Amino acid sequence: MNIDFKGKRILVTGVGQGIGRDLALRLAKFNGEVIGFSRTQENLDKLHSEDPRIQTVCVDLSDWEAAINAVKSVLPIDMLVNNAGVAILKPFLKMTKEEIDKIYDINVKAVISVSQIVAENLVSRKVGGSIVNVSSQAGIAAILNHSIYCSSKAAVDMLTKNMALELGPHNIRVNSINPTVVMTEMGKLGWSDPAKASAMLSKIPLGRFAEVSEVVDAIVYLLSDRSSMINGVMLPVDGGFLAT
Ligand code: NAP
Repeated sequence: MNIDFKGKRILVTGVGQGIGRDLALRLAKFNGEVIGFSRTQENLDKLHSEDPRIQTVCVDLSDWEAAINAVKSVLPIDMLVNNAGVAILKPFLKMTKEEIDKIYDINVKAVISVSQIVAENLVSRKVGGSIVNVSSQAGIAAILNHSIYCSSKAAVDMLTKNMALELGPHNIRVNSINPTVVMTEMGKLGWSDPAKASAMLSKIPLGRFAEVSEVVDAIVYLLSDRSSMINGVMLPVDGGFLAT
């Protein structure tokens, strides 16, 4: 499939490590003008030295005003991937207000703040665009000790549908991807224990976790005009976990 993002300015959040990092490198390889946001300067420096075409901005996206100002500083943006996220895994009864705020501030509220500025600018410029929200299988299926993370991703999926509804008439498509476990730093947090991992693997028909590159492939497809009639979907990248 021939995909070329030449002339497109693409904002990716959470490019410091994991899925966002590989995504930024891939989009730059496909000629996109990539702007990457993340929280840790050291990670951004490493990314920039690997591909100096990628512009980086260090920002804590859980700070609403800082997120808005950072997006305004890099406009215009044509495409957006809301990828930054955190997971705190504990029994429902043990989650504190601070932990709940931390998850919701980045996983949900930053998706709103960043998308509002990008979409408002696309609408005022009268150009179409594409937004991909990185959700999770955890937004669709309940997973033990993931209650607040799961509910944050369910919120992302419902935001995706509503954004698709309201932004579609402006030719801005909005979709989610819903990966299964990927062994990034976040993946290791929940699934390094072999007993937990094998319980999850037994529920995935393909019998393995997803590779970062497989998640990147799905995001690139939804971002590109190869998916030009796809709007408001939740695309599992889960080896069939959600089909069972
Ligand atoms: P990761 O390796 O932990 O990377 C998360 C990235 O988000 C990091 O680059 C981090 O920044 C950035 N970030 C976190 N909080 C931030 C904040 N307040 N402001 C700015 N940046 C922030 O995680 P990942 O596995 O790549 O996850 C990426 C996305 O995929 C997340 O939305 C996650 O929920 C979703 N997902 C992951 C899995 C999985 O199993 N890994 C499965 C399904 C969905 P720094 O590096 O700069 O600190």
